[in-house]
Amino acid sequence: MLGKGRSRMSETILKLDNVAKIYGHTIRAVDGVSFDIKAGETLALVGESGCGKSTVARMVLGLTGLTKGGIEFDGVDISGLSQKALRSVRRELQFVFQDPYSSLDPRMTAGDIVTEPMVVHGMIRGPKQRSSVAGQLLEAVGLSARHIGQRPRQFSGGQRQRLGIIRAFALSPKLIVADEPVSALDVSIRSQVINILQDLQQEKGTAYLFISHDMPTVRHIADRVAVMYLGKIMEIAPKEQFFSAPHHPYSQALLSAVPASHPRRRRQRILLPGDPPSPAAIPTGCRFHPRCPMAQDICRVEEPPARALGDGHIAACHFAAPWPIQIPAAPHAEFA
Ligand code: SF4
Repeated sequence: MLGKGRSRMSETILKLDNVAKIYGHTIRAVDGVSFDIKAGETLALVGESGCGKSTVARMVLGLTGLTKGGIEFDGVDISGLSQKALRSVRRELQFVFQDPYSSLDPRMTAGDIVTEPMVVHGMIRGPKQRSSVAGQLLEAVGLSARHIGQRPRQFSGGQRQRLGIIRAFALSPKLIVADEPVSALDVSIRSQVINILQDLQQEKGTAYLFISHDMPTVRHIADRVAVMYLGKIMEIAPKEQFFSAPHHPYSQALLSAVPASHPRRRRQRILLPGDPPSPAAIPTGCRFHPRCPMAQDICRVEEPPARALGDGHIAACHFAAPWPIQIPAAPHAEFA
């Protein structure tokens, strides 16, 4: 049942072009976001809570409308599709949400939960076939046929998220939007669930838009990393480049908070002052300038363009430079 492999890695499966979501003319929750995801690839979208990453996820899934821009999925413009038209796309575009407790219908059995998408799309008929397919799906995530009749409350948090994951994979989608899929789970079982996500991806060739604020998880699962701040992408880079040489001061601050695997690799901790400003009052120039330890006069007046740095590495900063940076003395820069 499973198995189509990572055969089309160069094919673009999702493309966001200058996507914006503005509430009530002033609240720019998402403010011109562009990126693409190739078939079978994992793009991690990271940033502090409230930066707009979950709104991006909801727009990709058609749960929130766009104010501007376009979204192409598998070569088709899906940004203006009706809910009815989106239903046919859904087969190829699935999701896993953060909270396994609320995303499963408590009245349904595990067997019905994991096979429901296939029943809806007419891929299985009759209780006998449904039961057989349910057993295979449950086994694919380390559960078994004996769990078929159990209800969500009878599973642990990790097991519930496995049900959510295999339900998303049941239709062999081309893309899964995973919004913080392990952050509600105990640290001890996160890696098991991440491994399941990776194994299924390898087997089926599915791409992930993986929303997370947890850098160790991102380091484990991502092929590329996109950093969002106040509704905009600050940096996109292949994972290795991002973790070894982040160019944007915001990325550098985020990574400075991640414990190093070896004491020699410890980075100077950069504590950013204050909280991100409100999306209703985005600062002039570079929106990061009130918190940036590198900010210069130009940053207050001129918005930095997204600069291509080679090998698919892009950073929106007038002074993008690899880590370690020489940070000029600034009254609001603190180091731990
Ligand atoms: Fe900091 Fe200026 Fe770069 Fe913005 S453009 S990140 S304020 S150095």
